[in-house]
This record gives sequence, C-alpha cells and structure tokens, in this order.
Amino acid sequence: MQIRVLTLFPELFDGFWANGMIKRAVAVGRLSPETINIRSFATDRHQVTDDRPYGGGAGMVMKPEPLAAAIRQARSDLKRASGSEAADSTAIFMSPQGRLLNQDLARQLAGQDNLIFVCGRYEGVDERVIASDIDLELSIGEYVLTGGEVAAMVVIDAVTRLLPGVLGNADSTQVESFSDHRLENAHYTRPREFEGVAAPEVLLSGNHQAIDDWRRESALVRTLLKRPDLLRRQGLTTTEKAILRRWRREWDHLD
Ligand code: SAM
Repeated sequence: MQIRVLTLFPELFDGFWANGMIKRAVAVGRLSPETINIRSFATDRHQVTDDRPYGGGAGMVMKPEPLAAAIRQARSDLKRASGSEAADSTAIFMSPQGRLLNQDLARQLAGQDNLIFVCGRYEGVDERVIASDIDLELSIGEYVLTGGEVAAMVVIDAVTRLLPGVLGNADSTQVESFSDHRLENAHYTRPREFEGVAAPEVLLSGNHQAIDDWRRESALVRTLLKRPDLLRRQGLTTTEKAILRRWRREWDHLD
C-alpha cells in the first residue's frame, strides 16, 4: 500500500514511520509511506498556506491553492508509482465532521492500494478543496484535535496492522475486539498468581477445547458488560444465548 500524508508538520511523522509495526510493514514491502509538506506547494514568496476567514471570526483557514496542488501532485505520483494511469487513490481529509472510523472501515481502507491523508490545521480548510479533491472525510472521534496529524496516524496504524504479513500472527487480527462485533476475551500471563489473584485454572489446563470455550464466554460477557450496543447490532448465536441463560441462572441464585 502506498500512503502519502499531506501536512504542514511533516517532522511529526519521522518517529512514526521509523518504529514498531509501521517500520516492519515498510521492511516487508507492504507499506510505502511518504510525508509531503503542503507549504512547498505555496507559490508566493513567504510560502503562505493560511488566510483569514471570509466573513470574519476567529482563527485562520488553510488556503485552497497549495492544498489542491499537493493533493493533485500526490494523485499523479501514485499513478506513476503504480505504473498505471488507471490506478485510483482515495484522498481522505481528517475532520471531526467526517465519518467515524471503526474496524469495518479500517478493513475497507486496508483493501485499497493508494491512500492520501490530508491533515487540517487551524479552523480547517477551504470548503472548495473538500468538494473538488476529497473522496472521504474521516473522524477518529467526537472531539476536536488541534490538527489532523495524530488522527491520520491513528488511521494508518489501524489500517497497516490489517495488511497481510505485517503482524507476526495472522490470527491476531481475526480474533481481536470488533472483528466480529464482540470485544476480545480477557488475557493473563505469568505469574500464575498476582497479589493473591490467580489466573483462571482452565487457561493452564492444556485443554484447547475448554480454553476456546472459556475465551468465547469471556468475550461475550465482557461485551455484554462494556458494550451491550455491539450485541444489539449483531444478534446472539444459539451458543451465546445458552451461555447468557446460564449466567442469568447463576445470577438469580445470588439473591
Ligand atoms: N473548526 C473545525 C470544526 O469545528 O469542525 C475544527 C478544526 S481542528 C482545530 C483542526 C484540524 O484538526 C481539522 O481540520 C482536522 O484535520 C483535525 N481534526 C480535529 N479533530 C479531529 C477528529 N476528531 N478527527 C479527525 N481529524 C480531526
């Protein structure tokens, strides 16, 4: 996957590309990222990229010309890198007003070959660039950040770990939280007992069927307690109904 990030603060990404899972994705040839400074597309002497908002009011707005030029250059570079004039890229504007990121959307994005991330600053960007050059407005949550860089990193992290061959164990993206509208089961590691609390005996039993059953039950009950909305979104299987009925019986006996 080719990624281009358009930003006024390219240096924020230096450590991001150079560490951990992202670094590994680059090393195994799954990810080819590049940061592009929007300022280098400003044509005036002072390389100005923002201006006062028409109509007055607080803050500054990112000017349309450098941003549009940067996005168009990134699109044509990606076509050239793909070796095909027909190669599409998706230009994503990070915005608190955008579609909310979730695991399903991360999976869809992981299926694309070319992504361009546009990081806003100040009050945001001139609306005409969004209309002419942006394919998707994307939010990472219902709160306002200072800039789109951290938000773009969140999306790139969530997408990159889904690319084939990036994580050591392919199973880990299949059984984790949200992969099936369920949260993941609880985890334990050594020591066997920590501050008087023992790890569940079944996990040390070596009985794989019993361990799988315990994990399924743990995932279901955690989802019920922490995110019941996920269970409402995707109904319960027969096995899950049986598990919850048993829990209810046990609960009833507590009275
Ligand atoms: N005035 C804008 C508004 O109220 O919608 C907020 C601008 S914010 C201070 C500056 C930039 O940060 C935005 O253009 C966007 O790129 C980024 N940003 C802020 N919050 C975000 C979020 N929740 N998700 C994605 N990007 C965000």
